[in-house]
Amino acid sequence: MKLIIASNNKGKIREYKQILEPMGYEVVSQREAGADIEVEETGTAFAENSALKAQAIYDMFGCAVLADDSGLEIDALNGEPGVYSARYGGLESDSERTALVLDKMKDIPEERRGAHFTCSICFIDSDGEHITAEGKVFGTIGYEPVGTNGFGYDPIFMYEGKSFAEVSAEVKNNVSHRANALRDLEEKLKER
Ligand code: IMP
Repeated sequence: MKLIIASNNKGKIREYKQILEPMGYEVVSQREAGADIEVEETGTAFAENSALKAQAIYDMFGCAVLADDSGLEIDALNGEPGVYSARYGGLESDSERTALVLDKMKDIPEERRGAHFTCSICFIDSDGEHITAEGKVFGTIGYEPVGTNGFGYDPIFMYEGKSFAEVSAEVKNNVSHRANALRDLEEKLKER
């Protein structure tokens, strides 16, 4: 089945291809499908934004679409950067945003460095029916960026002793918020 990923984020698209293509999906990004748009994320919750992105692309192509709104929520920062993860502090690059997080966390001791990623998926099937799914992964915030794999906040998100940017794609894609949201989606698709 052809599935358009309603995103321009190369890191996300790579992970959806890695996970979904072995399951038999023909995964194409919105750009590969021909949509040169950036949907405005006006919602204040992950699920609201994933629905906005999925609907915009479904309206253009009328075929199955998956949108992902995700972000990092840090306990000691009252859930920041949260839904604003992609534009935290108004900063342009992943490295600037991770530096901002590390600066805000500089006086926070290990036991208060808990954080999690959340991923909200909005899947719209070719008939226009919506399914919302969600996944999380829990870890801690490190003290400096480590590793070169992955994207976004991966170099400072510590999971079982390593950052998400140190582990292989195979390891991350088995335990990540995105993997867990896809498992939730799979369950919901089976229930239909
Ligand atoms: P959005 O869902 O396009 O609004 O952006 C999500 C943002 O959250 C990304 O730009 C990253 O900064 C961050 N993020 C989401 N998922 C991950 C991940 O798997 N690793 C690292 N950062 C992530």
